[in-house]
Amino acid sequence: MEPSGIIFTERREQPVKQWPFPDKKVGATTKAKRHPQTRRFMFMREDHDSRNLHDGPVNPDRLETKDWAGVTRTMKKVALDMGAEIVGVAPIDEFDYVRGTKPPEGHRVAISFAIHMDFEEMKRLGPLAQMEVHKVYYLLSDVSVRLAQYIRSYGYHAVGYPNEGDILFIPVAWKAGLGELGRHGSLITKKYGPSVRLGAVTTEMPLIPEAQPANYGFDDFCLRCNACTNLCPGDAIVPQKQDIFGILRWHVDTPQCRPFFEQYEGCKICLTVCPINAQTHVAPMYKNLMKGLMRRKIPIRQLIDEWRTEGFQEAEEFGEGWVPEFEDDGSDDGKE
Ligand code: SF4
Ligand code: SF4
Repeated sequence: MEPSGIIFTERREQPVKQWPFPDKKVGATTKAKRHPQTRRFMFMREDHDSRNLHDGPVNPDRLETKDWAGVTRTMKKVALDMGAEIVGVAPIDEFDYVRGTKPPEGHRVAISFAIHMDFEEMKRLGPLAQMEVHKVYYLLSDVSVRLAQYIRSYGYHAVGYPNEGDILFIPVAWKAGLGELGRHGSLITKKYGPSVRLGAVTTEMPLIPEAQPANYGFDDFCLRCNACTNLCPGDAIVPQKQDIFGILRWHVDTPQCRPFFEQYEGCKICLTVCPINAQTHVAPMYKNLMKGLMRRKIPIRQLIDEWRTEGFQEAEEFGEGWVPEFEDDGSDDGKE
């Protein structure tokens, strides 16, 4: 029996950066075959990065107060108003950054936040699901740019992080109480299950972190569930907890995952089949999906290939000129 929860050992180390496309050629090919709308979301995110919008000047007129608990509540609410859907505050140190990097000078806390991905899109796997992922990455980047700027307007340095940044989103979100680490290596939240992506803003503002990580019993559930391990096409989800950089926790073998991650446009089967989805608003969709999966009793790889083919056909039907549909509000704006 695996031990419950995450266990920190004496020998903590900073992790090395793991990047799904270390080979630039593979990265370029993968990008080229993405759906046009996915590439548009990537373009907008790259625009944030190229103009370094995640950092910026600090207002010299600094807020002085003793009510940091009140300011913390305000900043969390501001993050929600800006589009984040789950928000918490975590203490940070260099172990929350990839090796060779560290928090900016004086930054001791992070506002961690999550935005959910539409399960209807996620369960399609393939190009349209990946479009949903990149839409959410863009939204997270946008919130982080605006939230960091907002904190800097109070006279405290703050930095937002793009998805490719040096901060480790999952441990920070775990400490901020956003959810628990699942066997599939992703954060499982109470409201949206594992169908979320994460963002963060770090700051020197003395915000007050959450008292402790969340405990919804998901880790205990993982001890009895093997859905992700059994259905992962790459056998990448290690069934036993491992000591990784000095932390005993669930672990995904990235080199085993990578070929399927690349081949299946981000794959995500492990997130899609996770039964915690059945405890959220997507329960009916999840149950239908799993009923179908079990009824057909065909190997998961074959099923993915079928789904992917359908996804590609749909993407091709939309074609290069596809644009999202906007609801007509009935106004005459812009018309002759
Ligand atoms: S993304 Fe796919 S290949 Fe990678 S761990 Fe999840 S199910 Fe396995
Ligand atoms: S599929 Fe099961 S074992 Fe895997 S993360 Fe979800 S609950 Fe845990």
